[in-house]
Amino acid sequence: MGWAIALHGGAGDIPLSLPPERREPREAALRHCLQVGVEALKAQRTPLDVVELVVRELENHPNFNAGRGSVLTTKGSVEMEACIMDNTKRCGAVSGLSTVVNAISLARLVMEKTPHIYLAFDGAEAFAKEQGVETVDASKFITPENIERLKQAKEANRVQIDYTQPNQTDPTKEKPTADGGGQIGTVGCVAVDGKGNSATATSTGGLVNKMVGRIGDTPVIGAGTYANSYCAVSATGKGESIIRATVARDVAALMEYKGLSLKEAAAYVVEECTPKGTCGLVAVSATGEVTMPFNTTGMFRACATEDGYSEIAIWPPSTQK
Ligand code: ASP
Repeated sequence: MGWAIALHGGAGDIPLSLPPERREPREAALRHCLQVGVEALKAQRTPLDVVELVVRELENHPNFNAGRGSVLTTKGSVEMEACIMDNTKRCGAVSGLSTVVNAISLARLVMEKTPHIYLAFDGAEAFAKEQGVETVDASKFITPENIERLKQAKEANRVQIDYTQPNQTDPTKEKPTADGGGQIGTVGCVAVDGKGNSATATSTGGLVNKMVGRIGDTPVIGAGTYANSYCAVSATGKGESIIRATVARDVAALMEYKGLSLKEAAAYVVEECTPKGTCGLVAVSATGEVTMPFNTTGMFRACATEDGYSEIAIWPPSTQK
């Protein structure tokens, strides 16, 4: 039993043709964030500190759909959400943020400084001001790439899950965008220390062209984010499918009630409980196992364990470039 860490930068229909100029910055960001997390674990920081730290790094990276880089609602605004939880079931969540630089840290403050679990919209923004967390004008989150993404999604009249656009000949089918990598994903991190304490954190801008006020799986405890004494899980993909399947909680429940290993439980939920093309997750168990299954074309992901294993990948191992 030793420490373990895994992180993701979103799951979706990521084309194998993703050009190097799109792929490499994201791989470099994953490598950097993994390194930040590993060093923090080695320095005996708590898993809660580690996942917050790593997700802040990912939020600050404009190539991922969280913090700066968040995708836009149908009205062209940003509504960020995040959630953090540890193995003692302490948790905090936020939604509808438009000015907070690091949503994940506000989620942690909700957990630690309020009698509640989940704050949203005006109340969450007011709490952010009261706590003195870093905020910027809402317009600072809106990148030219995301204005273009919203335009494309509107032209196609759809709420866009990352990496996809309608098939020109059959609008009911999706096909990868030409450059694919113009699209970006939600971020998350799970970590466990050598004593079996674990934590999870997830942060997102949601889906391109989502309705104003739409809340996805990320901040919903048990859907996109969950931890207990068995495991810590962070999911990514189509929020509506992940909420219906209570993805993160089901992984923990299969371990607790059915005695499945982390890998078995996570594989079962991703393969059997969510529609193909809608879900991926990263998870660690209290005993230091790590798993990163997905039923989409790819998932930006990275992991490392105390025994020296480490991996940075986008596609399934058989197709990995
Ligand atoms: N799960 C997120 C949502 O639906 C999106 C993603 O994971 O990319 O809001």
